[in-house]
Amino acid sequence: MSVDVHADIERIFEEVARRNPGEAEFHQAVREVLSSLGAVLDKHPEYRRMKMIERICEPERQIIFRVPWQDDHGRVHINRGFRVEFNSALGPYKGGLRFHPSVNLGIVKFLGFEQIFKNALTGMPIGGGKGGADFDPKGRSDAEIMRFCQSFMTELYRHLGEYTDVPAGDIGVGGREIGYMFGQYKRITNRYESGVLTGKGLSWGGARVRPEATGYGLVFFVAEMLAARGESLRGRTVVVSGSGNVAVYAVEKAQQQGARVLACSDSSGYVVDEDGIDVALLRQVKEVERARLSAYAERAPRARHVSTGAGGASVWDVPCEVALPCATQNELDRDAAEQLVRNGCLLVAEGANMPTTVAAVQVLREAGVAFGPGKAANAGGVATSALEMQQNASRDSWTFEHSEQRLAEIMRDIHARCFEAAEEYGGPGDYVLGANCAGFVRVADAMHDLGLI
Ligand code: NDP
Repeated sequence: MSVDVHADIERIFEEVARRNPGEAEFHQAVREVLSSLGAVLDKHPEYRRMKMIERICEPERQIIFRVPWQDDHGRVHINRGFRVEFNSALGPYKGGLRFHPSVNLGIVKFLGFEQIFKNALTGMPIGGGKGGADFDPKGRSDAEIMRFCQSFMTELYRHLGEYTDVPAGDIGVGGREIGYMFGQYKRITNRYESGVLTGKGLSWGGARVRPEATGYGLVFFVAEMLAARGESLRGRTVVVSGSGNVAVYAVEKAQQQGARVLACSDSSGYVVDEDGIDVALLRQVKEVERARLSAYAERAPRARHVSTGAGGASVWDVPCEVALPCATQNELDRDAAEQLVRNGCLLVAEGANMPTTVAAVQVLREAGVAFGPGKAANAGGVATSALEMQQNASRDSWTFEHSEQRLAEIMRDIHARCFEAAEEYGGPGDYVLGANCAGFVRVADAMHDLGLI
């Protein structure tokens, strides 16, 4: 990278940090992308002239709103809702909604920013956005969840539309919540506009393989990474963090491909099961009973549960060859990365968004561990959401086999795009570089064509 391009990138980052104070996760995500773009700017001086990076770092629209609701005892609660409509150069804003007490504007912006490049990498016509609320669904009754979702949508609906902004699920938002929100949208607008939300139930406009897509897609991507090294998942030991939507289906697909998944986690601890994680039991505990993971260990004959409270224990202590962080941002830090390297881990791929800290990525890189960044590795979810929109638009419903095959093809293409861009921009085998450059160039080219808007 030339000296003035380097200086330009530093200046842009400083400006983003100054104009968005206190948004640590957003700064981290911007820094990560910008640090890959030197060779792109060297090759495309027009991007600098048109201030393409500065424009991409500024959301097109940010919506923050009050979400009042009543619990089962009649007590009033006020939460804060967010939707950041980041970039629509490639299509309607697309990205999930997260309900978690940690949600704030900086987190939504980091997720929305990542989503722009992820969606571009899929090759599909979808822009980037993200949203959510600082609402904690844990321990809430079904009726409380419904009232919250209805109140949330009562404000958000005016910003949505199948050609405008199409949310989906994320942490704390699954099929149940999408159902309550879709119901409220339909009631307010008097339109059965299936394409306005994805992750819907099968009988009311949902698509086969959407629940499985992020986890399955992650494993397809891992298989491509391994194949590029002449290897496969068969017989490999795997550890997955989290036990939610992404994690469950990553476990399932990894086992279908002949790996042995030894451990998974939630926010209070992890389970190690020498027999391999039993997906049916895991789903029963987490999805049906909505219980803690310790309930899994009580029922699986050779499983043990380890709490991750004060003692500093981590699911990454469990030796494995392939590590798949599928819980939340910055969950795999430098210590965890060093432990993985000591234990002989050969590949890490992100099912969650930005689960690996900058320092941890550095440790893995220096140790020669293959690393698949989330914006490529977990893009199967949003890609299948785009397939759901496609099916909604054509009033069609595809079979499971066809949908899964499309997902596998898309992940293969994403891998190829990252691989080729990494070669083109001077870092063969560097998936971070490849994903950032390929994603950025597709968005920047579209923005260039659309003029200064
Ligand atoms: P879920 O809510 O279904 O599951 C989240 C899992 O992560 C739960 O096991 C949860 O444990 C755990 N978790 C959440 N926060 C923490 C924390 N602070 N510390 C430790 N564990 C935590 O969410 P998803 O599976 O949908 O999402 C997981 C990740 O994947 C997120 O980063 C999301 O942005 C990303 N992602 C999701 C996609 C999707 O299609 N759903 C698509 C692409 C990315 P507990 O139950 O104890 O809270």
